[in-house]
Amino acid sequence: MATRENELSTIEQQLREDLRGADQEINELDEQVKRFGETLESAEGADNHPGDDSDRLAEQERLLTIRSQLAERKAEMEHALSKVDDGTFGVCERCGQLIPSGRLEAIPFARYCVECQEIVDRDGVAAT
Ligand SMILES: [Zn+2]
Repeated sequence: MATRENELSTIEQQLREDLRGADQEINELDEQVKRFGETLESAEGADNHPGDDSDRLAEQERLLTIRSQLAERKAEMEHALSKVDDGTFGVCERCGQLIPSGRLEAIPFARYCVECQEIVDRDGVAAT
């Protein structure tokens, strides 16, 4: 049977891999957004197709939304890895109980145990 320590180190490795993946995705999105900006600029003054431009802007906005979601997830992963350094990884930030490995396998950057997550989702982090 795997010990808790083994399980946590597996999850930590997963987390580091996910973080690298998120980093890469963000870089790719940045490239796409940049290219979009360049296309918009070069299109200026040329034939004006307002329809096309609004499509492009909508697409650019969509990319930026995905990017900000990724950046949020990345921040959560970095936070979780900082808990690895602190030795508090896998500990619920609200009640201090151990977060079950199954939950961490599903969400490696989970901050709370299931019970506290429900409370935080409902009442917010500040309420105790
Ligand atoms: Zn808890």
